[in-house]
Amino acid sequence: MTKTFKRNKENFTCEHCGNAVTGNGYTNHCPKCLWSKHVDENPGDRNETCGGMMRPKSVVIEKREFIISHECEKCGVKKRNKAAENDDLSTLLSK
Ligand SMILES: [Zn+2]
Ligand SMILES: [Zn+2]
Repeated sequence: MTKTFKRNKENFTCEHCGNAVTGNGYTNHCPKCLWSKHVDENPGDRNETCGGMMRPKSVVIEKREFIISHECEKCGVKKRNKAAENDDLSTLLSK
């Protein structure tokens, strides 16, 4: 099995807040509520069959980038995602 990063452009509707998200190929979470969905084994591959909703737990700043920690509500896996430029980080930072 080769593991390559696939850029997968797709639009989706956020299953948490109903926001219509325009995919840019990298963003796998909603810029408004920051919830994600557990669909990737490796970023962009959409190989994960879990499909659970991933709750944004915290935001940390590393090397001047925002990293969002997501936790899957279904299987409990934790993942770290780079925040996108248009993410509404005040949602998390205000907590
Ligand atoms: Zn949302
Ligand atoms: Zn999961």
